[in-house]
Parts: sequence; C-alpha cells; structure tokens
Amino acid sequence: MANTVLMLCVAGLMGVFAYYHVDYMVYHSVPTFVLYIYYYQLIRKGRIKAFFWAVYCTIAIYMGAATVCLGIDFGFNLYCMSLIPIAFYSEYLARKTGDSKSRVGLSSIALVAVYLISTGITIANGPSYEVPETASHVFFLMNSTFVLFFLIIYTAIIINVIKTSEEKLEYMAHNDNLTGLYNRHYLMGQLREMQEAKSISWIAIADIDKFKKINDDYGHKYGDDVLIAVSKAMQEVCKDCYIARWGGEEFLIVPKTGKVSKDILETLREHIERMLIDAGDQKIKATISVGAFDYSDEFQLEKTIQKADENLYHSKNNGRNQVTY
Ligand code: GH3
Ligand code: MG
Ligand code: MG
Repeated sequence: MANTVLMLCVAGLMGVFAYYHVDYMVYHSVPTFVLYIYYYQLIRKGRIKAFFWAVYCTIAIYMGAATVCLGIDFGFNLYCMSLIPIAFYSEYLARKTGDSKSRVGLSSIALVAVYLISTGITIANGPSYEVPETASHVFFLMNSTFVLFFLIIYTAIIINVIKTSEEKLEYMAHNDNLTGLYNRHYLMGQLREMQEAKSISWIAIADIDKFKKINDDYGHKYGDDVLIAVSKAMQEVCKDCYIARWGGEEFLIVPKTGKVSKDILETLREHIERMLIDAGDQKIKATISVGAFDYSDEFQLEKTIQKADENLYHSKNNGRNQVTY
C-alpha cells in the first residue's frame, strides 16, 4: 500500500510539474515512477529491507531535486522529517533478520547532507524555475500535510510493533510454553499478592500418575500431548482458579476467590480419569493424584504449599488417582 501511495504521489507531482513547466522534475519523475513499479518486485520477493532503503534513497533524491528546482517555499525539504522513521524502522527490520550492521547513523548523515546541500543551493542561487506564488502556498500545505500523515502512520506502526512485542514478552514471562498455563515464578508472585489481600482459601497440588511410564510406553511427544490435554482439562474444569505448571508433570491450583469449593478437585480428578487422549492411532488414559490444604494465618504460604505436597504424597502412597484434603 505504501508503495502504491508513493507511486501515485510521483504521478500526481509529475502532472503538476508539467503544468508549471518545471521540465527537470518531469524528466526526474519518469524514472522515479518506473522505480516504484520495480519496487513491487522487491516486496513480492520479501526483500523488505532492500525496499525500505530503495524508498529512502528515492525520496531523498526526489526531495533534494525538487528543493533545488523550486526553492524552500514549496516544502519539499520537509520530507527529510518523514524519512527519519523509515531509516530507524528499516534498521529494526534488519536486526530482526540477523543483520547486525547499523546503517542508521550513516543514512541520517546522508539525509542531513542532502537537506543542507539542496537547501543551501536554492538559498544561494534562488530557485531554478519561476512558479506563481499561489502554487508555492498550495505545495507547502500539501507537502506539510503529507509529511504529517506520514509521521502519524509510522508512529502508529512503531507503537503497534512495541505493543505486540511487549504482549509477547509478557506472555513468555508469565506462561509455560508447552501448556500455556502460568509458570511457577508468575503464580508465586500472584500468591504473594493474594496473601497480602488475605484472599487465599486453599492450595492444591496435582501430579500426573505414573507419567514416566506414559513417556516410556508412548514416547516423549505423546507424553507432551498428555501434559497439554491434562492442562486444558484443568483450565476447563477449574475456570475460577489460577493454575500453574509447578514442575514437570506437577500443577498448582489456587481458587481466585473464596467461593470455589475444594470439591472441584474431585470433579477434576474424575474428568481426567474419563479422558481418552489421542496418541496417533491409540488412546492414552491418564489419572492424577491431588493434595490440598486450607490456607491459614498459622501456616502462611510456604507451609501451606508444603502441607498440600504432603497430602499429595498421601494420595500417591494410598494408591494414586485420588484427592487428599
Ligand atoms: P508418580 O505417579 O509417582 O508421580 O510417578 P511419575 O512417573 O509420574 O513420576 P516421576 O517423577 O518418576 O516421573 C516424572 C516424569 O515426567 C519424568 C520426566 O521425564 C517426565 N517429564 C517431566 N517434564 C516433562 C515434559 O515436559 N514432557 C514430557 N513428555 N515428560 C516430562
Ligand atoms: Mg507423576
Ligand atoms: Mg512429579
């Protein structure tokens, strides 16, 4: 879209330059227009970095030539403002694709040089073409408005890139990448906040039974699928709980409010017991053992988790696939 807009601008300007008999800019606009047609090839081949640099040079040269031909009153020299975000954005894209070479300093210097030389020549010699004053007002308004929109669009793009990567980073910092559940570090932070707010009612730890055997029998990949399926089931059944992947095949469950009964754990255990998890052309059955303990000011956070863990071991030692409160 950006390429099409720029190409149409060059076509429009060429018409205006022809109208005012600014012959050099008409001749300059023809190869520039052809170049923008070629730039579609760069975009199609995914050579976005090359596209950015090509657009950068094309606009800089066009802006310089128009300034020399018409003088500074037309506002063509303002385009250097809109080129700065292009330079920084292309640098950002280059880094993303592993190109560590920084050209943004060099291109900024080149841009300032084009700006100073073209503006200096036109101040020293006057404009090369005489065009009515009303045209300069119209051009100034048009060019400055275009530069403003350019800056708005680029700023919006850059802010959007920052927002998206912040969201991605936040997700990666808070969640386990296999199951999508919260990670231990994040839930521990949540628990400390809940402890301050005195809103923890109970804590449970669930562990998949004989998971090593599932890995041995079906392979690690299907073991991962079991972890994903069990995690999904936990999220579906315990909607009002925070759930974290506490360790390899161990999960911590905490209700978000005091209204969630511990009976949900028995419902969860039964739900998982009934599940048939896809493993190629076979189905895997899995069960969980759970230990839960009521939160109290006496035991606080660490001790409550430890007590829930002791109850989990009771479930394990008592034959697995059960909940101990
Ligand atoms: P128990 O009923 O006593 O809990 O027995 P278990 O086999 O589940 O427990 P154990 O601690 O002996 O084994 C846990 C296994 O979980 C060992 C480890 O290889 C496996 N595991 C841990 N993380 C992952 C993972 O991300 N993916 C897969 N596929 N396996 C994992
Ligand atoms: Mg286990
Ligand atoms: Mg375990």
